[in-house]
Amino acid sequence: MNRSIVFFGPSRLLISAGLMLAVMGCSGHPGPAPESASDQSSEAARKVDAQRVANADATPEEWLTHGRTYREERFSPLDQIRAGNVSDLGLAWFADLPTRRGIETTPLMADGRLYVTAAWGHVLAYDARTGELLWHFDPKVPKAYARHACCDVVNRGVALWGDRVYAASLDGRLRALDRDNGQVIWEVDTRLNDHDSYTITGAPRVVNGKVIIGNGGAEMAVRGYVTAYDAQTGDEVWRFFTVPGDPSKGFEDKTQEWIASTWTGEWWKNGKGGGTAWDSFAFDPDLNLLYIGVGNAASWNRKVRSPEGGDNLFVSSIVAVDADTGAYRWHYQTTPGDHWDYTATQHMILAEIAINGGQREVIMQAPKNGFFYVLDRQTGELLSAEKYMPVTWATHVDLETGRPVEAAGVRDTDEDRPIVPGPSGSHNWHPMSFSPDTGYVYIPAKVSSGVYRDDFVTQRRKTIWTVNYEVSKMIALPDEMPFEERAATGAVLASGILIAWNPSTRQEVWRVPTGFYSGGGLLSTHGNLVFQGDLSGQFNAYAADTGETLWSYPTQGGIMGSPISYSLDGEQYVAVAQGWGGESSLPFGAISGPQGMVNISRLLVFKPGGQAKLPIVETQEETLEAHALAAASPETIENGRALYNTYCSVCHGGNAVSGGLVPDLRYRIGALAPAWRAIVIEGALVEAGMPGWAPFMSPEEADEILAYVAHEATLGHQRGEKRVVRR
Ligand code: CA
Repeated sequence: MNRSIVFFGPSRLLISAGLMLAVMGCSGHPGPAPESASDQSSEAARKVDAQRVANADATPEEWLTHGRTYREERFSPLDQIRAGNVSDLGLAWFADLPTRRGIETTPLMADGRLYVTAAWGHVLAYDARTGELLWHFDPKVPKAYARHACCDVVNRGVALWGDRVYAASLDGRLRALDRDNGQVIWEVDTRLNDHDSYTITGAPRVVNGKVIIGNGGAEMAVRGYVTAYDAQTGDEVWRFFTVPGDPSKGFEDKTQEWIASTWTGEWWKNGKGGGTAWDSFAFDPDLNLLYIGVGNAASWNRKVRSPEGGDNLFVSSIVAVDADTGAYRWHYQTTPGDHWDYTATQHMILAEIAINGGQREVIMQAPKNGFFYVLDRQTGELLSAEKYMPVTWATHVDLETGRPVEAAGVRDTDEDRPIVPGPSGSHNWHPMSFSPDTGYVYIPAKVSSGVYRDDFVTQRRKTIWTVNYEVSKMIALPDEMPFEERAATGAVLASGILIAWNPSTRQEVWRVPTGFYSGGGLLSTHGNLVFQGDLSGQFNAYAADTGETLWSYPTQGGIMGSPISYSLDGEQYVAVAQGWGGESSLPFGAISGPQGMVNISRLLVFKPGGQAKLPIVETQEETLEAHALAAASPETIENGRALYNTYCSVCHGGNAVSGGLVPDLRYRIGALAPAWRAIVIEGALVEAGMPGWAPFMSPEEADEILAYVAHEATLGHQRGEKRVVRR
């Protein structure tokens, strides 16, 4: 037994950690770690406090908070790995993660340990030198809770404060864990109630000793809010509601009374408002302002939720509040009266940049709606708003009024209305990066579009789903077709583009196509590098100034997670977690990744001269079979198609084509058909994550869906369609 093990506490814990390694088979060591390296992992976990975070730029060897600093720049000042030598980068170690769904985590590194999250909210701590698993916390989220999640059961990371790790799980729980052993110190249920579809996928932040967390759920009718909990005790300190509640029950404060005047009708019934803050925060310690990125409205369709119009504050806004009290300070609404799922939950970055000959302290965001915003972060004054991707919903943003000028007809969605971008946005949750060296913001952007129509889903589906968007309208079109033509069809376009954006000149500097859907989160470094993984499984390094591809490493599965960099014993490392999944892989299965993509959830750590090798992935080919049920009447199949795309497509893929993360029903039709009603209506596979649809769906409707899936399987069989799956 070496000293590192002794350090980590009572023998009971040691045994469980050792067992986990054995059971999971997930220690990815290239070989036995040298005794000396292992010994060094016993360095004490020092307290993380405001001083240590504020001093982060002076200690670039660590990565203490989600965006490395409270400014959320995701820039590493390390420069041992540089544009000139990045080709020497090799795999130092890897560790397989214990889940098989999308991985969106940003690892944190403090005191020689890496803290990462996996799907559902699992938390794992590793020795950052060797990859030795130190502890693993399983939040034991009931698998049936997946039905409350719009966009996979992902998690984006932890926060460190004091001697604790703060982490949330999909079922809305926030916990303080002991940094040394992962044991729960306190746990709170952050949900307003236990019947609305609240989820947490975002990473907590800790400011001034308070743990800040929001939630998701606007697609399923919830009221959004952000809560601050005392980091020591878990007691609630303040709660800020992002949309108003039912006026007859009284407003929480004057801010709520004021924002209610921007709503009409009975929004607290028709979608409950939405405005969930499910991901992005930033903090300015000097101004003591906490910035909250607020999501889309619910219902999406304004005619349903606020029929007489109105801006509907604070949906799709950046809101600044006092970090100690949660009191409102200012807001900027990117999409007044949102109708298209244009969240402003995207990553926000604080920086000082040159504007009109002067230096300004700004906050920057590239939300879904396609405009890049630069605001004064003290006052919220709009400084610029420029299209960073193609946009058809608005012609421009009027800098005098601060409001977008909507294009004609974009709210006339009583008929199919193709609009750019679609609900997936010009940029989704994948974090950007700002390099103070180049002055550029790197954006994991994409082109997307979608078809909106009032009666899609909202009225047809008798559940709480609130969208006015039809997944089945996605079409994969030839790359050669000009963008405008493709957008006019309403096709969901599957093209990720990494762009370098100069926020001072409001111009794109360079761009690199990153293939399917969207590239992963970003890291820039003082070595003139930008790192990003993609959904084809390549982990790439680009020159930060020119966009030239300098290095590329083939991993074995799509990457969405965000890289970080750290340094130990004078060696610089780059870490990234891979694990294909997330919002793109489920509904847009046909176009979200290469055919045959598999989910391998794994932490990968690179260093110059790294020699570790990945294991061989065994795969096999599967073909589609014809099925007798395909002989059902055309009317039955059409009904089944509509029902499928209403109830099933969000997870199993539009038009019955799954990306593979959740079963492609066509490939299992023979086995599933005999038990279909038991599974679909009664929930026989609920523990596998497949909920029963009673009472929303009738058994006869389930049968129509089965006929449709059989029809699609048979068509695929006739086309000779096949796929590659992990054995
Ligand atoms: Ca949304």
